[in-house]
Amino acid sequence: MTSARASSLASSLARALGRIDRRDERRRLRPFALAPGGRLRSDAGEFLDFSSNDYLGLSLHPLLVERACEWTRRHGAGAGASRLVTGTSAPHLAVEARLAAFKGTEAALLFASGWQANAAVLAALLKAAPDAVVLTDRLIHASLHHGIAAAGARQVRFRHNDLDHLEALLAAREGRGGPRIIVTESVFSMDGDVADLPRLAGIARAHDAFLYLDEAHATGVLGPGGAGLSAALPGGVDLVMGTFSKAMGSFGAYVAGSRLLCDYLVNACGGLIFTTAPPPGVLGAIDAALDLLPGMDAERAHLAHIAGHVRDGLRAMGFDTGASATQIIPAIVGAAGDALALAARLEEEGILAAAIRPPTVPAGSSRLRLALRAPHAMADADRLLATLARLRGRASCPA
Ligand SMILES: *Cc1c(COP(=O)(O)O)cnc(C)c1O
Repeated sequence: MTSARASSLASSLARALGRIDRRDERRRLRPFALAPGGRLRSDAGEFLDFSSNDYLGLSLHPLLVERACEWTRRHGAGAGASRLVTGTSAPHLAVEARLAAFKGTEAALLFASGWQANAAVLAALLKAAPDAVVLTDRLIHASLHHGIAAAGARQVRFRHNDLDHLEALLAAREGRGGPRIIVTESVFSMDGDVADLPRLAGIARAHDAFLYLDEAHATGVLGPGGAGLSAALPGGVDLVMGTFSKAMGSFGAYVAGSRLLCDYLVNACGGLIFTTAPPPGVLGAIDAALDLLPGMDAERAHLAHIAGHVRDGLRAMGFDTGASATQIIPAIVGAAGDALALAARLEEEGILAAAIRPPTVPAGSSRLRLALRAPHAMADADRLLATLARLRGRASCPA
């Protein structure tokens, strides 16, 4: 304790927390450790984990762990400076070249995190085109909104994955305003549904729009060799971003696109210029994941298979799973309190599934967000379904 004095800001914070409490939306930090077999450990014991985004189990893979240690031993624990000062090492450039080859683009750049990449890159793009019209899917990630808001740009939102609506909005603005930027995701983080990329790319081309695609949940899991859905569409997407923190098992993010785009960002993106370069250990883990991903078709097929099984089972029980078509499956229950209650009951049964509530998802669509992972066995998927069926049988349990 330093001081008992409560500033007037502190009482504003306490009032704001109180309002969050009354809406059943208070969040707390809890310690967990990833464990093999799609498990998580905490002081309460071991859980079957359907919450984390380590979709391929790479965070515990010996090759990533070993190379992170090796590159740390060889190059040190930190990069020492920002990229434009002395923070760019040969491994930074080598990993960026590998990423560009992986994504099928001319160039790629590393970022500290996916949140930071989206927030910083969109702001930088809009700096060059303050009159741009930004068309966004209604359900894009908070970091994308942040980047657009930071630039003070106006967003025109289209209904989720409704490309007829996007086309109508573009047509209505034909010949007016500056450049068009379309911002969307290939796999949506809370719904697990997929955007129609070939059609999106066609629309972007027809309307001379720049297509910005977030592949956070597709990278490693979908597309040729796990390179994301944009990799099946060479030249169709102008900017692809993705993160190393989900299926790629470690940390950090990338932006891939043309040489012109990356050269511009090196010169204009504050989130790349005014931050220390990623450390060697993280680069080593990324490099190892890039070695492994092309050879993981069997893991990807297994993941798709168990996800399909869980989706079918949930639907048969009467759960609304939205338009999920990937390893992310929402079991939509509606009220925040109901989603929390169901997650708490599952936890008593040794199963962790995150209750996702507003403001992360729209009001009335609170859900369990089930993230299947390649380390799960079919028996784990069946245990989840059997437990949910039993809990749902109890009168007080929503679904
Ligand atoms: C997780 C996520 C990010 C942020 O990536 P981090 O590397 O975790 O900061 C960005 N976009 C989407 C859609 C995400 O789900």
